[in-house]
Amino acid sequence: MNSLWIGLLANTAIVALVISFWSNLRLAAFDRPGAFHRLEIGCLFGMGAIGVMSIPFQISEGFFIDLRMTMIGTAAFIGGPVAGVVTALVAAIFRIYLGGAGVLIGLAGIVVAAAVGLIGYRFKAAEAPSIKESVIFALAMAASSSVPSLILSLDNSSGLHIRLPFMTIVFLASLMASLAIANELRRREIDQRNHMYRHVIDSLPDALNVKDREGRFIMANPATAELMHVDGVCTLIGKTDFDFYPAEIAAAFKLDEEKAYRAAVPIVEEQELAHLDGTKAYLSTLKAPFTDADGQCIGLITHNRDITDKKRLEVALTQSDRRAAEALSSISDGLVMFDKDLTLVFCNERYRSMFSMTADLRVPGTAAAAILYASIARGELIGIPQEQVAQWVEAALSRLREAGTVQFPLSDGRWIESRTRPTPEGSCFVICSDITAAKQHELKLQDMNDKLSVLAETDGLTGLRNRRAFDAVMVQEIERVGRGEGGLALLMVDVDYFKRFNDTYGHGAGDRCLKAVADCLRASVRNPTDSAARYGGEEMALVLPDTDEKAALAIAEDFCRRLRELHIPHSGSHIGIVTASVGVAALPSGGPVIKATRLVSRADEALYAAKGAGRNGVKTWEPSRPRIVHSDIA
Ligand code: GH3
Ligand code: MG
Ligand code: MG
Repeated sequence: MNSLWIGLLANTAIVALVISFWSNLRLAAFDRPGAFHRLEIGCLFGMGAIGVMSIPFQISEGFFIDLRMTMIGTAAFIGGPVAGVVTALVAAIFRIYLGGAGVLIGLAGIVVAAAVGLIGYRFKAAEAPSIKESVIFALAMAASSSVPSLILSLDNSSGLHIRLPFMTIVFLASLMASLAIANELRRREIDQRNHMYRHVIDSLPDALNVKDREGRFIMANPATAELMHVDGVCTLIGKTDFDFYPAEIAAAFKLDEEKAYRAAVPIVEEQELAHLDGTKAYLSTLKAPFTDADGQCIGLITHNRDITDKKRLEVALTQSDRRAAEALSSISDGLVMFDKDLTLVFCNERYRSMFSMTADLRVPGTAAAAILYASIARGELIGIPQEQVAQWVEAALSRLREAGTVQFPLSDGRWIESRTRPTPEGSCFVICSDITAAKQHELKLQDMNDKLSVLAETDGLTGLRNRRAFDAVMVQEIERVGRGEGGLALLMVDVDYFKRFNDTYGHGAGDRCLKAVADCLRASVRNPTDSAARYGGEEMALVLPDTDEKAALAIAEDFCRRLRELHIPHSGSHIGIVTASVGVAALPSGGPVIKATRLVSRADEALYAAKGAGRNGVKTWEPSRPRIVHSDIA
């Protein structure tokens, strides 16, 4: 019986030894490829099988057993086909080498053990078998331990009283091996996971640490050491904030930690940090209390993010925002910004006060179109015909998409100039300036210019157009005729015996007489397109656009009659009153076009013809009529 226990213990010791070897082998083989590692398991367990086969123990008279099945089955169950087959092969070769009568049963046992192990390997859920899977595996191993001898019917002598202890030993040994390996696998898995977590924590840019209930550092990552300006993590372990910060700051930290303990939930806050070396930092801190299995708070996990740069930027941004807001509110121009959808995103107070009738709408979020429509509807923007409102708003909106300057009046008489500047992002800035004073100045100047140009074109004595204006009108009118836009007639008027009038009544009376003649000519003007002009001296002209010769003749005669009806005495004239002679030349609509000077010459020729015909009358130009020289008549 002693030899049984010694053999059993020796076999069990070899199993334990192999598992222990395996455990160390696995540690060493951490990074090796799987197949090679499985070959190693095969060899190790194969050696184990040889070991147990070398020390069999007698369970009854002539019945020797060993734990080779446990060895082979476990190798297959844990390591899979490669490990199982290698172990089985090593065991089989050794069994053949041993020889003897039980070779066949021995080999059958090896095959059965490998098969049971592989079936278990195939069906277990994870690499590390669960307790349940280990028990099933051990039971299967125990049950299969007698299969070879039963099948081969080679050992009829051994009954259940012998097999049962053998099966129990196989069961216990297999269970022990499987559980030990499973535990080792799980431990390794946890180790790996811890290794990974540690790596993550150490590489975190944020400071992460754990303190016990007394505020002593239990764990900290390098970022914590860096944040606290200490050499390394080791310096922190076992110490408290009081070792690294001024007392009042450390006390404040402690208070915060107590707050987190009381809250019993993670709290997040921002805090300022003053180091012993005088530097300052800002932290965003998360404090999460952690509890033991009984729910008692046993420490605090602190996660600190250095937000000093962010804080500085925030302060700088707030300052620059405030400065910008101050600058914008103090400028005299209205400033408004629309986004790419033309919705108001920003404006200053000046802008809103500039458009007081729609100030309620000129706020962020309102569409530019809505502002414009309201401004027109409320009568703020003026001069837009009702039927053109939509078109006008559309044009104004499209102007917001490109750089440009627009001036427009408001209903209260103010003038606004808006300068649009689009941004590359598609939004736009509009700067609105009150240009009322400048605009009024400009309008006054414009008015003065208009008056000056009228003066420059007016004859001082008669108030008619002067010769310069007459020439310009003639050129324009001839061009119009050239474009086929109607005919043109010209009257040349000359006061009869005016030299004698001057000689008789004096130059002043002559001037008054000329004014009277000019008034008569002005009275002949029918519409704004007709223009009466003083051609020179006592000679005047009447330009009649869109007038044919006949109508011009009638106008000329009408003029002569009107002058006669003034009855201005003129003793130097055989008629006794001031009269005038008129020459008419016309260019019919659609006819050949001649130069302005040619038409004037023709009217002149007709005038001299009228003089020649005894004065106080009208003559039209005739191509065949010989030119009468003025001096001949005088
Ligand atoms: P005719 O019937 O042939 O036209 O004779 P006339 O005397 O009118 O012709 P003439 O050309 O010899 O004389 C024109 C006169 O008109 C000469 C000039 O003294 C006078 N005259 C020209 N301009 C002015 C003016 O501005 N004021 C005055 N008072 N006389 C003027
Ligand atoms: Mg004359
Ligand atoms: Mg004359």
